[in-house]
Amino acid sequence: MHWHWTAGTYQPNRIERERYHILIDGEGREHSGLYAIEDNIPPLRPGGYAAHTRRANSWAIGVALCAMGRATQYPFDPGPWPITDAQLEALAKVTARLCERYGIPVTRTRVLSHAEVWPSLGVMQRGKWDITWLPDMATPGDPIEVGDRLRAMVRERLGDGRTEAEGPDSRMGGGALQALMRALRRIFGASRGP
Ligand SMILES: [Zn+2]
Repeated sequence: MHWHWTAGTYQPNRIERERYHILIDGEGREHSGLYAIEDNIPPLRPGGYAAHTRRANSWAIGVALCAMGRATQYPFDPGPWPITDAQLEALAKVTARLCERYGIPVTRTRVLSHAEVWPSLGVMQRGKWDITWLPDMATPGDPIEVGDRLRAMVRERLGDGRTEAEGPDSRMGGGALQALMRALRRIFGASRGP
């Protein structure tokens, strides 16, 4: 799952809804994108999936905060639509729900911001700094540190002890693996007891 901001206003427009599966407006309300999450299961059909991350869209859910239009990185200016606290709350909630539903572990390589894709997945992106700034920060920070903060918010929501973050599974991907992980979690989850 990749987190983005739209670099637009607090409301999603049609182009943005084409690009992301789920969009969160300025007040923290969810909007559906035009493509289904399943449309990003490879093989991707040209023009038939949510193209949210350069060369890394397969198996990747795109969730975007509607914000940061006209923001500039250097010198930093959040512009007229800075990320809101309501959006962050909603992002944590939506992410936790999707992680549960699809059996996605909350790790740096499986749940990450667009800005983390290059450093954490090694897939080059062009000048992407979403999400390196949060409302309580004076200037943008390190992509992975900011990502860690967001992941901590998600784990709080999950509240199921699934914090053994960077397990060996985190480097692999694919639906078969996700199905296996789900099955394993069911088995171990069931035997662990209350
Ligand atoms: Zn992005």
